[in-house]
Amino acid sequence: MKRIGLLTSGGDAPGMNAAIRAVVRSGIYFGMEVFGIERGYAGLMDDNVIPMEMRSVSNIVQCGGTRLRTARCLEMMTKEGQEKAVKTLEKHGIEGLVVIGGDGSFRGAKTLSEDYGVPTIGIPGTIDNDLEYTDYTLGFDTAVNTCLDIINKLRDTMTSHERVSVVEVMGRRCGDIALYSGIASGAEIIVVPEVAFDMQDIVDRINRSRERGKHSNIIVVAEGVMGADEFAKQLQANTTHSVRPTCIGHVQRGGSPTMADRMLAAQFGNKAVRLLNEGIGNRAVGIRDNKIIDMDIIEAVSMKKTFNYELYETLQMISM
Ligand code: ATP
Repeated sequence: MKRIGLLTSGGDAPGMNAAIRAVVRSGIYFGMEVFGIERGYAGLMDDNVIPMEMRSVSNIVQCGGTRLRTARCLEMMTKEGQEKAVKTLEKHGIEGLVVIGGDGSFRGAKTLSEDYGVPTIGIPGTIDNDLEYTDYTLGFDTAVNTCLDIINKLRDTMTSHERVSVVEVMGRRCGDIALYSGIASGAEIIVVPEVAFDMQDIVDRINRSRERGKHSNIIVVAEGVMGADEFAKQLQANTTHSVRPTCIGHVQRGGSPTMADRMLAAQFGNKAVRLLNEGIGNRAVGIRDNKIIDMDIIEAVSMKKTFNYELYETLQMISM
């Protein structure tokens, strides 16, 4: 394979730039020409294709966001859109593609591989950690660390004023950001889409913690359950403690990637190019039990995400 393309798609995630760098440099190592496609599948249809050199990816390993920019593109779900995308690839002689994104982006990658014969490799780039086949997705670690920084600051002021903080983090269907940031910040309670909650039980737990001498409480709520404002309103109606909502919002998508995400980016990007160099496509790369793996891309997105109930119970046991 002599020419490969690369795009980022769906929501941005810290570490995408480090992955772009790894793909470009690995491609050049194997003697390939590498083309960046701007604005995800939308850019593929609009022929936003730029040659990537060794120096095009200098000084980006530490940057959040994605230099190739990203987009959501409904047209990619239509036959006409897919044909347009393939035409652009043909025009530039691009024989293989790396797609960095979430499960939606992977479905587009699968279509290009299976229906149009363009070997495509998926790199899981999403802060949500909502893909079962990989232990971690690119950007999750940084997003959780950003949440931790904010929760630490909230704890200071909540303790000073003896308040209850309701912190909304991202995660529509997957509670992993809430789970990990809750455990690592010492939050008393997490509320996730995977586990039903009972407001009276939460009130009781707050009261018990106060009886034990606590001066503040942190409740981390995943956005898929309820917004912070609404949750705080419902809680405030049931308690005399002062409740304050905070929505972390888009801050958790940005920022310089952590060591963990840069390491994932380097390994995922390199593995993707190694596969293409062997002429292999239709695979998703990931990490399992600390080993870089690859598997059939559609099998990867079809696996139902499981929630780590043991970690959830751990939080219940240690955050009193
Ligand atoms: P995130 O996890 O951040 O939401 P994602 O990759 O899952 O990332 P989506 O918006 O679901 O984000 O998908 C990104 C893009 O992938 C879509 O805008 C569309 O262009 C393409 N895509 C999604 N589903 C399909 C599909 N079934 N067939 C072809 N292309 C698809």
